[in-house]
Amino acid sequence: MSPMTRTGLYIHVPFCSSKCNYCDFNSYAGKLHLAEKYFSAVQKEIQLYYNTMKYNLIDSIYIGGGTPSCIKHKYICEILDMCRINFNIAEDCEISIESNPGTLDIEKLTAYRSSGINRISIGLQAYRRSLLKYLGRRHSAEDFISSVELAKKAGFCNINADIIFGIPGQTFEDWTETLRVLVELGVKHISAYSLKIEEGTKFGDMLENGELIPVEDELDREMYHYAVNYFKKNGFKQYEISNFSKEGYICRHNLIYWKCADYLGLGAGAHSLLDGERFSNKCSIESYTGDLERGVKPVEERYRLEYSDRMSEYMFLGLRLNQGVNNTEFKELFKKDMFFLYKESFEELQKNKLIEIQGQNVRLTGLGLDLANQVFVKFV
Ligand code: SF4
Repeated sequence: MSPMTRTGLYIHVPFCSSKCNYCDFNSYAGKLHLAEKYFSAVQKEIQLYYNTMKYNLIDSIYIGGGTPSCIKHKYICEILDMCRINFNIAEDCEISIESNPGTLDIEKLTAYRSSGINRISIGLQAYRRSLLKYLGRRHSAEDFISSVELAKKAGFCNINADIIFGIPGQTFEDWTETLRVLVELGVKHISAYSLKIEEGTKFGDMLENGELIPVEDELDREMYHYAVNYFKKNGFKQYEISNFSKEGYICRHNLIYWKCADYLGLGAGAHSLLDGERFSNKCSIESYTGDLERGVKPVEERYRLEYSDRMSEYMFLGLRLNQGVNNTEFKELFKKDMFFLYKESFEELQKNKLIEIQGQNVRLTGLGLDLANQVFVKFV
């Protein structure tokens, strides 16, 4: 019997208590009354993938959003039960849930643990109250601290915090305070992203109207470098441009995306990559549930990746990882030598000190980490 394909599973929860000013995720405020309908649709979607997933072994599940913790925990537990009935779930499966401070209590957290969730991500974003308000976050830093303490009490050891730098009005001291608090709280994983002002968000409108002035690149980079060094000093390993973990706490699910491995996405707007095909679901909650009520998969877009697209995705996603891309693995997957295939790009990037080559490995340099987009375009 051939071994099962190891696969990730993503489940999208599109509900939020309110919309943050920077958010362009597929999330909706004021639609919590649709939760019952939505989760029964997700259960139907799971059943529709029973056959597809027969030979896949799911070794990571990520319940993301939106804010999965703003809905009743019974919905999450029922979804996980349904997954266990229909899919092959690895015994040591990493099961993560995203949450926001102020939406967690001990009963909810204990129920999560009992249903097998073993990793929790809590969105702090910033520590200073005025910055949280500016971002449109509903919680306080104190809510975050008590959420981390409650999660530990409920038995969570694998705790991630999400933070943002480069927020207009955020001082360097604000940033260092955020980092210090996280290290003192003992979280095991940190995702630190530079604020991106996206079109269609409140910040996007403010930028257009001249009401928002983005942070200077220099300060943004200074904050990033400080974080990289500070985390290193405090025992975190940087394993991706924006992700840091204590030994043994690298997020398995994240790696799936950067290594272009297979994953199935369920829920409104969720994306999948299975057997060289990318597909995504309808974003609106109403269209998604409507399709499933009719017994139809709610897929909106589907396309097969060309061989060349798969190789370039493998390169630019793999280069996000600190370990970089390995030629032996590349050859195993694509039967081609990446040093031969991308010879000219590698030479130019090396000359500009953006990548370094060691044996069979290519990775970004410190400068390459700052100018990563200039590297990635070479493989698109
Ligand atoms: S909580 Fe997260 S998903 Fe919801 S609006 Fe804010 S950033 Fe977006």
